[in-house]
Amino acid sequence: MLDRPLPSKLPGVGTTIFTEMSAMANAHGALNMSQGFPDFQPPMALQQAVSRAMADGHNQYAPMAGNLRLREWIASDIESRTGTAYDVESEITVGAGASSLLFATIQALIQRGDEAMVLTPCYDLYEPAVNLAGGTVVSVPLKADSHHLDMEAIAQAWTSRTRLIIVNVPNNPSGAIWSRTDLTALARFLKEKQAFLVSDEVYGPMVYDGQEQLSAADEPELVERSAIAVSFGKVLHCTGWKIGYVAAPSSMTAELRKVHQFDVFSTGAPLQAGMDAFLRSTEGRDHMHDLAAFYAAKRDRFLNGLEGSKWTLTPAEGGYFQLLNYDRFDDRNDREVTRDWCQQEDGIALIPLSPFFPMGSHPSSSSSVRVCFAKGNDTLDQGVERLLRISNG
Ligand code: PMP
Repeated sequence: MLDRPLPSKLPGVGTTIFTEMSAMANAHGALNMSQGFPDFQPPMALQQAVSRAMADGHNQYAPMAGNLRLREWIASDIESRTGTAYDVESEITVGAGASSLLFATIQALIQRGDEAMVLTPCYDLYEPAVNLAGGTVVSVPLKADSHHLDMEAIAQAWTSRTRLIIVNVPNNPSGAIWSRTDLTALARFLKEKQAFLVSDEVYGPMVYDGQEQLSAADEPELVERSAIAVSFGKVLHCTGWKIGYVAAPSSMTAELRKVHQFDVFSTGAPLQAGMDAFLRSTEGRDHMHDLAAFYAAKRDRFLNGLEGSKWTLTPAEGGYFQLLNYDRFDDRNDREVTRDWCQQEDGIALIPLSPFFPMGSHPSSSSSVRVCFAKGNDTLDQGVERLLRISNG
């Protein structure tokens, strides 16, 4: 055994808040609305398609870039949504969830000393990935209430060392989405700066209230400079399978695959084959078609339950998270309240907002928590009951 601590490449990083809250929820028997995964099962037809893929022999390494038919489905899906044609051989790569490909992309694009811009609050993977690549993160806040893009703040924080910007729409944790104006403004700006875009679109089709699903692939000027990451775990209710993809121009794909092939290399052959069969079936087409309405109904059930309460909120426009503000009834900080509410009898596990800010960019205090509404109706109703009990004191 070593008798001294190892030097750390990520000294500021501990166990993530998601792992911590789920463990605390289990230990205290709290209702878990913290971590971002459904508490219901993937479609039966998808489970059967994966079993069939195993029985049919899809049990050895899938190609490094991913199952070819699945990549063909991905290319045709992107083209039908956005009009942009990606080459299946050189521009689409399947990996171990969107995470592995975001990580590979960031390793490939960031050189030592580069800056990567992130828009806060943001998902917690980006900063350690940038740091491991030898870069630093510059945090720029999204607009205060709407959490929409603030182009003025982005332009002000940009420096000659900023190599790329990482965006996430629909957003985790805020639930904000793009407008066409945002996308066009960003495209114009990045073209002028000759910079890259890493577009985390893992909740892509989950867009509500009749708004459009927009992707970086919708803007021709972004396509040539963007890596777009998507998660089948999110859209097919199977986060534990960890299958996702990245679509990027061939020059970028060639570089990110150099990381991917020595990190993940190849992943979940029967899962990829089963997903492909499912997505091409009537059940799969219906699933994708109905996905936004399915999650909008969950959001509405949850928010209707909280109507008239002391919680304050802006309804999520997309994704499967809702931010709730509690400053009308509790003045403790967000980590303190989430621990307390989780440990109470009939408690509830939520995620504090503060971990969504890279180091050094934390607001002085946060009175917001994130709820995952990718839950069955019973969980949503129980969650509402517990949240009302908390806000009523
Ligand atoms: N990006 C964001 C914004 C996420 O919320 C998540 C999952 N929580 C991921 C990426 C990772 O996706 P996957 O599970 O496919 O790796």
